Amino acid sequence: MLDSKEVFDVKEKYIPAPEVEKVAMELIAKYHPHLAEAKIAYVFKKDSWSKNGKWILGSAHKCSEKEKLLHGYDFIITINRDSWMLFTEDKREAVVDHELCHCGKSEDGKYILVPHDIEDFAAVIRRHGLYKDDVRQFSMAIRQVSLFDTKPELRVIGGSE
Ligand SMILES: [Zn+2]
Repeated sequence: MLDSKEVFDVKEKYIPAPEVEKVAMELIAKYHPHLAEAKIAYVFKKDSWSKNGKWILGSAHKCSEKEKLLHGYDFIITINRDSWMLFTEDKREAVVDHELCHCGKSEDGKYILVPHDIEDFAAVIRRHGLYKDDVRQFSMAIRQVSLFDTKPELRVIGGSE
C-alpha cells in the first residue's frame, strides 16, 4: 500500500488530461476504428520529461491483465504537459495520433502495443541510403508528405515505454 507521501508525489507529477481525450476521440473516429471500444486513460506528466537530451512528447502503455482488473483501462496515454502547452493544435494532434498508433489490436482481438515503423540512425541512412524495407517505406511516406501535405514542418518524437 502507498503511504501518503507517495500518493502526494503521484498527484503532483500526473494530472488527468481531458483535452487530450477530446483530441483522441476525434482521431480514433477518423483513423483508429479498432480503438472505438478500448478504455484509454489520458494523463499529463507535469515535470520536464526527457531522455538522452530529447524531449519525450508522450508515451503509450498497454495495461496488464492485473492492472486492468484493478482499474479497467486497456491503455494509458501520457502526454508531456510542457510541450503540449507550447504546441499548436496541429502538433498536438500529431502527438496524440502518434501515441494512438502504439495502441493496436491483434487478429484474435487482444490489445497490443505496436512498435515504431522504423528504428534507425539518420547518419546510417545518409551513408548507406535506403538499405532496408522499413526505411524505404518511411522514405516514401516522407516524400508523399513533401508533395501533397501542407504540414511538412511537423516533427514528433515519442516513446512507447
Ligand atoms: Zn512512439
